[in-house]
Amino acid sequence: MHTCGYCGTEVQVKATMAYCSFCEMDLWEEDITEDGQRRELVVQKAVLLIDAKRPTPYLMEQSAFSLIKLLKLVRAERKRLYEMSRLFRKGNEAGGGFTEQQQVVNEDYELFCRKAWVIENILRDKMSAFPARITDDYLEKMLEQMDKQSRDTMTFSAPRAPSGATKK
Ligand SMILES: [Zn+2]
Repeated sequence: MHTCGYCGTEVQVKATMAYCSFCEMDLWEEDITEDGQRRELVVQKAVLLIDAKRPTPYLMEQSAFSLIKLLKLVRAERKRLYEMSRLFRKGNEAGGGFTEQQQVVNEDYELFCRKAWVIENILRDKMSAFPARITDDYLEKMLEQMDKQSRDTMTFSAPRAPSGATKK
């Protein structure tokens, strides 16, 4: 049975498209599922810090989960660079001559500060809020939920009459 990936209603597929009368919209191939399955979630599970250097339009296309993972890496890098910059400044104050290194680190620090803001704002667009703190536990729970929800099909059945109710 072909179903709408948003509401679970049975739909008739013509060529690769269908119309869902409940949602009142045309469905594309990726919106049509079988037997009440939910739409497939497109998630890039492996995320690297270097991905953050891609332009904002690229980041906008990524899934919320990928972006949350990336934000965790970016925040850690921002913290690392902040600490490095402080060390170089201390070294300079002690007469060390780390001006050039400090400048390089400061430029990177600004880059990752801005990247964190970009990702936070894209997440605000997608989810209305971004997580303040991202722990491994937070990511693990989100992954578990994604997995569980993808297996939870939309098959409607009307509530049954309470046992003992008289049938007409
Ligand atoms: Zn629908």
